[in-house]
Amino acid sequence: MTQPSNGRVALVTGASRGIGRAIALGLARDGFDVVVNDIERQREELKAVATEIGTFGRRGLPLFADVSDRGSVHVMVDAALAQADHIDVVVNNAGILIANTVENLQEAQWDAVMDINAKGTFLVVQALLPHMRRRGYGRIVNIASIGGKHGAPEQAHYSASKAAIMGFTRVLAQEVGQFGITANCVCPGIIVTDMGRTNLSDQSNVDKWVAVTALRRLGQPEDVVGPACFLASDASAFVTGQSLNVCGGIVLS
Ligand code: NAP
Repeated sequence: MTQPSNGRVALVTGASRGIGRAIALGLARDGFDVVVNDIERQREELKAVATEIGTFGRRGLPLFADVSDRGSVHVMVDAALAQADHIDVVVNNAGILIANTVENLQEAQWDAVMDINAKGTFLVVQALLPHMRRRGYGRIVNIASIGGKHGAPEQAHYSASKAAIMGFTRVLAQEVGQFGITANCVCPGIIVTDMGRTNLSDQSNVDKWVAVTALRRLGQPEDVVGPACFLASDASAFVTGQSLNVCGGIVLS
């Protein structure tokens, strides 16, 4: 992305693989130039996603930053605005899952999950808000999880971080609606990615999750793309503060 964009621009965090990569490509297919973020260790994978965005005739800009680090987030947002001119949409997707029981959970594991999932979402939103406010426009899409509504054993800290994202988004929506900005969550169910495989350690777990899913199948990253792109678009102009389950019917409220 060497020239400022005259069109719509999205920023997607954690976009080198899995759900973030799928959403970044979906937004490119929908006509967005996309700033894709991930952590430095995903350098080659992220550059490949940026190149793939080019196959849709859109521009991809890879920017490396740790979303849990305030300084790193601000450098990323400044670079994105300098190179892309503006950002219409942010998809806060970067996240981690470390499985452990409450009894065995180490404080450092709790902190890492809360820092990247919950604080990372807050830091990226806070860095972008002055820009979105100035423009009187913004679509904020936060990737939470049905884990934040229901959860599963060994994921108490993950569940807490995702519930935090939903609470944060509900209040954010009330604060920023007057500036033409919407804020919503997508809550994926069991999606087959590197992270999703944590829930699918053996065939009995796969069978268990399929059995409790109304559609009787696991999700693929592409299953999350349509709902995320809807919340990133003007088709959802009157939708804000919501948490949309994208789980094939595991959680029904
Ligand atoms: P994934 O395949 O593990 O991808 C997540 C990406 O985020 C990775 O590339 C990861 O890099 C990156 N990341 C981690 N820490 C980061 C940081 N501090 N700053 C920037 N990027 C960072 O996971 P996924 O399954 O696609 O999940 C994407 C989102 O969906 C997450 O928020 C997750 O909680 C949520 N979700 C997933 C599922 C599921 O079943 N897969 C279900 C519900 C919700 P590294 O791998 O190098 O750490």
